[in-house]
Amino acid sequence: MAALRRRNPPVPGAPDEFALIAELFAPLSASYPGALSLTDDAALMDVPSGRQLVLTMDSMVAGVHFFADDPPDLIARKLIRVNLSDLAAKGAQPFAIMLSAAFPHATDGVWLRRFAQGLAEDCRTFAIALIGGDTVATPGPLTLTLTAFGQVPQGRALLRSGAVAGDQIWLSGSLGDSALGLVARQGGLPHLSTSCRDHLIARYLLPEPRVTIGPGLIGLAHAGMDVSDGLIQDVGHMARQSGLAAEIRVDLLPLSPPAQTTLAADNSCLATILGGGDDYEVLFTAPQSEAGAIQRLAAHTGIALTVIGTMGAGQGVRVVDRDGNAVAVAHKGWRHFTDAGEEQWSG
Ligand code: ADP
Ligand code: MG
Repeated sequence: MAALRRRNPPVPGAPDEFALIAELFAPLSASYPGALSLTDDAALMDVPSGRQLVLTMDSMVAGVHFFADDPPDLIARKLIRVNLSDLAAKGAQPFAIMLSAAFPHATDGVWLRRFAQGLAEDCRTFAIALIGGDTVATPGPLTLTLTAFGQVPQGRALLRSGAVAGDQIWLSGSLGDSALGLVARQGGLPHLSTSCRDHLIARYLLPEPRVTIGPGLIGLAHAGMDVSDGLIQDVGHMARQSGLAAEIRVDLLPLSPPAQTTLAADNSCLATILGGGDDYEVLFTAPQSEAGAIQRLAAHTGIALTVIGTMGAGQGVRVVDRDGNAVAVAHKGWRHFTDAGEEQWSG
């Protein structure tokens, strides 16, 4: 689309829109013929019979989801990964992405190349192709929107609404690292050792979408979702969609050694761990009869899968200790429009 008017002179050394697409983005489409090398108006996609497309889109805005001076390759990789996490939670195998990018006028060529290198690296890592998108310049903050495409066997996607009373609630990986990493990044948690701090901040900058877990859960799990806005809030979404109540056992939560150290030094960090968000783990429910198969999936993929609670009749989320006593949680989860203060319209 043509813009209303051109406001800023180009940054010396920055490729223009068409050079950017041809030089930096088109190579990432090479493995997908339907992308037409990003030389046409749109991409073409076949869906094999018996398969269903799973689509998701997430946006990231500088100053809201990341710091404007974060490394550009990590911004690109996080953008891909938060979307692949949604696909994994549906049990889908990712295969393609589309990118809408609004780059601030002052963005230079070095930055753009590093950003494209980050995209390229994760396209390789996850065997996906960049099949299209849109590129504009903006007087506002860097704003990135990515659509990810995955496939599942027809009718087999894991839904939030599929949980059954009596199901065990499982979580992949570990909880809270990223939220604690953000606190550390902002100057908090001063008692932490450098290695703990580095681990937590790395988890904040670069999530690990559980792409090998998701497809493996089809046929084992009843319900699935990705934990991105804080465990308690997200469990609440699943419970509500399934018409059930969830009970989470705080003593069962999988915490990394740095998160355990942080919690041991300051118990108030529990609220950050349970409500902070940015975990990008898979939350799923399954009948107890599948517990053995799920443990084998964990062994096979090398990703921990942990029972953290149960689904039952009723509604809402109860957090309890090992004796069944209720545990109060201060921070229930992230909501853009009510939590973001002056950035409330950036959600
Ligand atoms: P139009 O003016 O019709 O929107 P564009 O010049 O924006 O066409 O896009 C040309 C081609 O480049 C299209 O295939 C489009 O999908 C692709 N493209 C544009 N921007 C991006 C991007 N950020 N990432 C991937 N592909 C892109
Ligand atoms: Mg366009």
